[in-house]
Amino acid sequence: MGRAIILKSQAEIQKMQEANRIVAGALSLLQERIEPGLTTLQLDKWAEQFALSHKSTPAFKGYRGFPGSLCVSINEEVVHGIPSPSVVLHEGDIVSIDFGVRFKGYYGDAAITLPVGNVSARKGDLIEATRVALEKAIEQVRPGNRINDISTAVEQQVEACHFSVVRQFVGHGIGSELHEPPEIPNYRRRERTEKLLPGMALAIEPMVNAGSYEVKVLKDGWTVVTADGQPSAHFEHTVVVTEGEPLVLSRLD
Ligand code: MG
Repeated sequence: MGRAIILKSQAEIQKMQEANRIVAGALSLLQERIEPGLTTLQLDKWAEQFALSHKSTPAFKGYRGFPGSLCVSINEEVVHGIPSPSVVLHEGDIVSIDFGVRFKGYYGDAAITLPVGNVSARKGDLIEATRVALEKAIEQVRPGNRINDISTAVEQQVEACHFSVVRQFVGHGIGSELHEPPEIPNYRRRERTEKLLPGMALAIEPMVNAGSYEVKVLKDGWTVVTADGQPSAHFEHTVVVTEGEPLVLSRLD
């Protein structure tokens, strides 16, 4: 066990709500604009401008030296793809975009995977399975449940679709730091996991591979790809445990 999980006050949750609204707004903008022919750097610039124009700071830029504002991961890239002026989106690609901002000292973090034009049925199924896995995980965000209930919900959904969950990267607590305790794996663990309490803020982020769960990091030191070259999808929401229903801060309504 590492550091304790920090419970957030209503005032803190309010700031996190605003941060996450900016993140959701940026992702929504990219979803509207995505099309073949764009570079991944263009997506990064749009997200960065959106954050800055909403008085927030992109959270990933400079984080442990990450060079972009947006993580853009295409097809077999799982997470942490670096935006580039020489990487162009093509019809049939799937693109995972992960964005975070800091606003009034608090973080928001969310991700979606988008199809570029028409994609194969398998890629479409992968996106949908991952999106649904996140929704099932969010359903478990209730006081009295444990982190393992979230992990199990993801794993069961993904395995029912005959895909696999990435084990090397996990979700996380979030607040005045981008990454706080607890870790939120997308697979069930045998040991006892933390109990969910009102005020916990969790970035839940299933990363799902069409083939094997194994991944590797490219020589750029960042880009995570599937070991077998098959595609991968990623969805993420920042969610707060309340006395009642889960509060999804990064959902646009
Ligand atoms: Mg995250």
